[in-house]
Amino acid sequence: EAVTDPKLSVTGLEKTFDGITAVDGVSFDVQAGEMTGLIGPNGAGKSTTFNCITNLIEPDAGSVVFDGQDVTGLPTHRVARTGLVRTFQIARELREMTVLENMMVSSKEQTESAIHAVTPGLRENVRTEEEAILEQAWETLEFFDIEHVAHEYAGTLSGGQRKLLELARALMADPDMLLLDEPFAGVNPTLEERLLDRLHALTDQGYTFLIVEHDIDLIMNNCVRVLVMHQGQLLAEGAPETVRDDERVIDAYLGG
Ligand code: ADP
Ligand code: MG
Repeated sequence: EAVTDPKLSVTGLEKTFDGITAVDGVSFDVQAGEMTGLIGPNGAGKSTTFNCITNLIEPDAGSVVFDGQDVTGLPTHRVARTGLVRTFQIARELREMTVLENMMVSSKEQTESAIHAVTPGLRENVRTEEEAILEQAWETLEFFDIEHVAHEYAGTLSGGQRKLLELARALMADPDMLLLDEPFAGVNPTLEERLLDRLHALTDQGYTFLIVEHDIDLIMNNCVRVLVMHQGQLLAEGAPETVRDDERVIDAYLGG
């Protein structure tokens, strides 16, 4: 197997909240075009790790290198511009917008259009750009089979549809890599199947995923590599079959 540079490289990540060390020197790599799972008992530090990677929470120490570029300390929106994006729950104000509007406001090009719009002589470009965004929005909604709810308010969607929209919105930012924090929580089996199918399709297209999930079997059955966190530290990593039989992993889950 050829050795390639990792897509994402996290080194020595640390975060302490008022004396509680949530992330305690975590280092790992994620390879391009792979679906990597991050599991661990409640409170292991998985979400904090995600938040530190995209600088939603400022880490106390550590570095994050994405695509060979040091993105440590960059504001979250600038990290996103490099292609590293995490999904977000649909916030209150977005629930009062339609699904299509959610897609439009999420677009990276949307921000760029806003800049063009105030520049005289570029109106023609703005229109074609907006048309392109609209087309991308519809295509993405169709990809997830949620185009029939495009004009519904996001707040009226089912839990599963909302999770699909969260991923669809993230794709509007044209990422290369997506961080998903519990994307299957509250999703019924039918939509879970659809979401998994789309994640595999996107992986085949070259997207890279890091997925936090409490359903261990789901991660073991769908990810090529698994990272296990426990008490703020990386306990184990490797292929699902290796990690599954690791005694430290078994102990961590049984020990709570
Ligand atoms: P996980 O996602 O693996 O369940 P978290 O990263 O959410 O774990 O939390 C790790 C630890 O950090 C927990 O002990 C949690 O209570 C604590 N923690 C997380 N976020 C905060 C915060 N904003 N303020 C204080 N403590 C926090
Ligand atoms: Mg969490």
